Amino acid sequence: MYDLERLFDDHDIEYWTKGKNVSKGWTNIQCPFCNDKSNHLGVNINTGAYNCWKCSSSGELSFLISELLSIEEYKSKKLIKKYREDFIEVKKEKRVVSNTELILPKEATNILPEKHRQYLIGRGFDPDYIQKKYGIMACDILGDYKFRIIIPIFFKGRLVNFAAKAIDDSANLKIKNCPNEKVVIQRDSLLYNIDNIKNRKAIIVEGFTDVWKMGDCAVATMGTKFTNAQIQLLSDYCSEAYILYDSKEKDPQALIQAEKLAHSLYSLIKKVEILELPHGDPGDLTYSEVENIKKEIGII
Ligand SMILES: [Zn+2]
Repeated sequence: MYDLERLFDDHDIEYWTKGKNVSKGWTNIQCPFCNDKSNHLGVNINTGAYNCWKCSSSGELSFLISELLSIEEYKSKKLIKKYREDFIEVKKEKRVVSNTELILPKEATNILPEKHRQYLIGRGFDPDYIQKKYGIMACDILGDYKFRIIIPIFFKGRLVNFAAKAIDDSANLKIKNCPNEKVVIQRDSLLYNIDNIKNRKAIIVEGFTDVWKMGDCAVATMGTKFTNAQIQLLSDYCSEAYILYDSKEKDPQALIQAEKLAHSLYSLIKKVEILELPHGDPGDLTYSEVENIKKEIGII
């Protein structure tokens, strides 16, 4: 069953749901295939099949929409999917762009102090590699972000946001985010590391260190909560998605969130799988464990 009214409303197509020429269970529009001055083309709301009383053109909704909107049929197929009643609505949220340039904290330096380096080494990372690959910086003993690693967030190669991760795991606020009034794109419209998706395959993880461990193809929702804008972004960038959240043992909510995310992606992405970890989080994996996971899902 299609929500034809919403489909036509959203694309400024005039329609009739009753009156002249309109049968029950059909929505009518002006036929684009003949010299129709009225509303002779009916679309069946259950099947999407159309039929013109005047010129007898008939076919499927995807073809009709591709004609009406002058778009290719594969695009039209993707579009009309969103108007099926069994589809969970994903509205394209506007990426809120307020600033044209992101300013990193003025205390941030490229030289990682020893305690920052030790923190990374303690988590199984090579500080020099992580810095080179992800452009991390450090705030040492001064400022709002002291004792934190500054994590730049890029989108299409452009610096658009940042987060600051405490190097003390007992810190109250483990991740301190750039205030929204200073960002170029808000965090909830972004996925960390999206620029490094390869071959339209993504491993979706929760946090920054998970991405650092999983490497290319890993993107982080930056928390287990996700937004419609992130779902949209994922469907634009990948055809296969593997969700790798923290283990049940570490976070009992993680699997529930993973299932919600999978559910939102099913109708938009060809393949969606949830990968479950027996314990810990992806950041705790060894590099050979990471390699095995990636091999298994055909990402390497
Ligand atoms: Zn016609």
